[in-house]
Amino acid sequence: MVPVCTLCGKKAWPPSPACPKCFGRTVLKKVEKTGTLVEFSNSYVRGHEGVFGIIEMDGFRLVGSLDDDGKLRKGMKVKMDSCGVNVEGAPFYHFTPATTK
Ligand SMILES: [Zn+2]
Repeated sequence: MVPVCTLCGKKAWPPSPACPKCFGRTVLKKVEKTGTLVEFSNSYVRGHEGVFGIIEMDGFRLVGSLDDDGKLRKGMKVKMDSCGVNVEGAPFYHFTPATTK
């Protein structure tokens, strides 16, 4: 088995308790990458424009950026599509609405 990041889903190799990409926890299984959008707001700060939200994942919350397609609402399911470390060295997470049937 390979440790998989609980946040971005990246495989941690060589095996490590922390993701080499976003420093999230790793677990020896496939994990859910969807969470629930708890709060969100628009940012108009120059250089940081966009929509930021608080996403409740499996037992923890994190702040991520989102694509605003005009359909964002509290309580909707969102899916992490990328994560990494920004130029300031802080981890970031990006979410898109999880499409439901
Ligand atoms: Zn990760």
